Amino acid sequence: MSAAPEAYADVVARIARAAQAAGRDPADVTLVAVSKMQPWEAIQPVLEAGQRVFGENRVQEAMARWENRADGLTLHLIGPLQTNKAREAVAFFDVIESVDREKLARVLAEEVQKQGRSPRFYVQVNTGEEEQKAGVLPADADAFITTCRGTYGLQPEGLMCIPPADEPAGPHFALLRKIAARNGLAKLSMGMSGDFETAIRFGATSVRVGSAVFGVRS
Ligand SMILES: *Cc1c(COP(=O)(O)O)cnc(C)c1O
Repeated sequence: MSAAPEAYADVVARIARAAQAAGRDPADVTLVAVSKMQPWEAIQPVLEAGQRVFGENRVQEAMARWENRADGLTLHLIGPLQTNKAREAVAFFDVIESVDREKLARVLAEEVQKQGRSPRFYVQVNTGEEEQKAGVLPADADAFITTCRGTYGLQPEGLMCIPPADEPAGPHFALLRKIAARNGLAKLSMGMSGDFETAIRFGATSVRVGSAVFGVRS
């Protein structure tokens, strides 16, 4: 058995406290409950407790989990997106947080045109410049955002990052905030189970929390 919904209520309370401590309105921080790899028994109580925003890593897995249950929900794709899944991702998700290369921006723009439907977009920034991690490099972020807007007509609403696991997250959150500010982007998706309170202090407008809400993934 998972600890939800007690764990869920606890995360919601911690988000509110962190926002207040930072002089922010708790309503300005959205909890994206990351349901990837969780059994439905762990998700259902959180849904019943009122959570409506969920995050998923993989297109296929998300569709299998949510296809007939997504009414009234907001679903975020937070994992890397292959161009051959762009069509399904544009059709299915409300928010795609992992836009990180020109080819993907181009294919997403084409799908938005074709489908007459547009998710909201975030640009993922690889703030730690890690080899194995997705995201545009910080030095390339301004140019990439300009290309998304100018060449492809995509209007990203914010930035997303996943700091290196073995470093303090604060400087990465500060860097993301700086890149967003100079590009006129209002939204910051940053902070996970281990560091969402820090992220809120640095201005996160949404936090992606999985294991602290649902329990450890199998
Ligand atoms: C899995 C995942 C999360 C949630 O991680 P937890 O540590 O379980 O909160 C957040 N963001 C991304 C991109 C993820 O892949």
